[in-house]
Amino acid sequence: MSKKMNVESFNLDHTKVKAPYVRLVGVTEGANGDKVHKYDIRFKQPNKAHMEMAGLHSLEHLMAENIRNHSDAVLDIGPMGCQTGFYLSLLNHEDYDDVLTMIEKTLEDVLQATEVPACNEVQCGWAANHSLVGAKEIAKEMLNEKSGWSEVF
Ligand code: ZN
Repeated sequence: MSKKMNVESFNLDHTKVKAPYVRLVGVTEGANGDKVHKYDIRFKQPNKAHMEMAGLHSLEHLMAENIRNHSDAVLDIGPMGCQTGFYLSLLNHEDYDDVLTMIEKTLEDVLQATEVPACNEVQCGWAANHSLVGAKEIAKEMLNEKSGWSEVF
């Protein structure tokens, strides 16, 4: 891993991190001074564990819908292809502790959910592939380890 890659996370040594954690990936500043903060929300230890697809997919729907009730700064939240975490992008929001709080509140929403939003063929690209139970298991495990979220290594 000597060559520096274009993608920040390809330069991260995934054998050195300790999931779960919430890591600032980087800050992008636009020409008018607006800033996008991107976070790596790592639920599972890379190459040791991962989220099963159906639960991950439902967690994605639930977090995408609910996190916007806790912050107006959310641009996007989406899963990693390795199924170990999510990326969260925020506009003009620099408060790391508030990020932890909005993630905590969003995961608590997941535990309270009685259905997965938008899990139908009109609103989703793979409506048959959902598990509310699976999403809740992932959320519960993540919440149980909240005290360690700020420690990446
Ligand atoms: Zn979907």
